Amino acid sequence: MLVLSSPSGAGKSTIARNLLESDAGFELSVSVTTRPRRGSEIEGVHYHFRTPREFEMLRDGDELLEWAEVHGNYYATPRKPAETAMAAGRDMLFDIDWQGAKQLKEKMRGDIVSVFILPPSMRELLARLKRRAEDSDTTIETRLKNARVEIEHWTEYDYVVVNDDLDRAFAAVRAIVAAERLRRDRRPGLYDFVAGLLDEEV
Ligand code: ADP
Ligand code: 5GP
Repeated sequence: MLVLSSPSGAGKSTIARNLLESDAGFELSVSVTTRPRRGSEIEGVHYHFRTPREFEMLRDGDELLEWAEVHGNYYATPRKPAETAMAAGRDMLFDIDWQGAKQLKEKMRGDIVSVFILPPSMRELLARLKRRAEDSDTTIETRLKNARVEIEHWTEYDYVVVNDDLDRAFAAVRAIVAAERLRRDRRPGLYDFVAGLLDEEV
């Protein structure tokens, strides 16, 4: 379970999209949110857009793996797809905030690899929020203000990547994924392989 977090605008959705396009092994956890849909977003692809009432019903029905209030809206990870992917041994990508990352770690510590994406500067963060041009000025202001709170949680993550140059940041995330997939404890098949090696007559 690869968790990507960052202050809004630092580039985690861009990095997540690149990863999903280049690595068929990853599936995206599509979150539920009560925030309004942006013009470029598609229901069920980027988010499941729900009313606050619908959200509360999902939460109270224990259908959410984690949930949090972010920038004045509710966001959550649906339980079922994540648990199905985990049971099938598939890798899943989570674009969630520090509160969600914390809850997932409490529930599934050994299965989580977490990466925090930092912007190269606050000035560039604001420029990216404006360049994305999908949020109102007030929304951008809230997100910039909340960026400091999000950044304060950087030490809770396994890896930190500064997204200055996108290609370099993406290469760093791919390197993290490659290394984590090579970890001995994620490769149960190695036991048989090594036993075979030791049995081999030469
Ligand atoms: P987040 O998901 O963290 O809110 P996005 O991925 O939506 O951020 O990126 C915010 C904006 O910044 C987008 O317009 C994106 O194209 C741009 N962006 C992302 N990474 C970089 C980068 N390294 N350099 C310049 N612009 C970037
Ligand atoms: P945005 O509105 O820009 O898509 O996302 C705002 C913030 O909410 C981002 O930090 C994003 O990572 C976070 N977020 C998105 N989905 C979830 C989720 O399912 N759970 C939690 N905790 N945060 C989420």
